[in-house]
Amino acid sequence: MPELPEVEVIKNMIKSILKGKIINYSIIRTKKLKYVIPNNIIKIHNQKILDVKRRGRYIIIILLKNTIIIHLGMTGILSIINKNFHLYNKHDHIDLIIDNHLILRYTDIRKFGFWLWDIKNYKKNIFLKKLGPEPLKNDFNSLYLYNYTKKKNIAIKILLMDNKIVTGIGNIYANESLFLSKISPIRISNTLNLQEIKILVKNIKYILYQSIKHGGSTINNYKLPNDNTGKFSKYFFVYAKKDKLCQICKTKIIRIFQRNRSTFLCYKCQK
Ligand SMILES: [Zn+2]
Repeated sequence: MPELPEVEVIKNMIKSILKGKIINYSIIRTKKLKYVIPNNIIKIHNQKILDVKRRGRYIIIILLKNTIIIHLGMTGILSIINKNFHLYNKHDHIDLIIDNHLILRYTDIRKFGFWLWDIKNYKKNIFLKKLGPEPLKNDFNSLYLYNYTKKKNIAIKILLMDNKIVTGIGNIYANESLFLSKISPIRISNTLNLQEIKILVKNIKYILYQSIKHGGSTINNYKLPNDNTGKFSKYFFVYAKKDKLCQICKTKIIRIFQRNRSTFLCYKCQK
């Protein structure tokens, strides 16, 4: 599943190529994604792409009269291809024809992703309005997080993955930022002091920036023209490193489960 850095990289790719261009028309091969694609898709035809934004893991394409919101689900892939290479396979569900020579293509094997076409005010959209602050923005800071952690009797990793508190950190980056902060993922939130929260917030921002810089962690959700993507997994300390040695103390990394999600930690370094 793409997490915040991957969606940010995808957003930047789409924005750099498509901003200012016109959507000529669309080809819908599969209507039934997570939500059925309605017939009113025609409303986006012949509209200019004014901007492309990201909120949490949602990609927002702002047109002159309305807005498209895209969520990639588990296996959604966006790619930009030359219209002349118009072959497609059975998982290529949506094509937007852009400026008569490009295609923004949506491919999704498991079809858990979705597209919403006709959003007037995306900030009031039901999916977006309940999201907490962006972790890379200033309103996500140590005092903000401490106000939550001191009241919560749940494991810190569970809290970090609550999109209502902070949006889009996700499993990989929760694991990595807790390791860098020497905090155990199973620590109960209200046992963390303000100094620990300061270090944690700093590391969350650091690890997300580093991942964006390296093109994200996963290579499965987008295709860039130069294919220079998804290098950050090389830099993982703990994520998916079960039985590998901790780079700090050489103890074996262990895997446990928290709410059915894998958690990786060094029990010696993380307290
Ligand atoms: Zn260690």
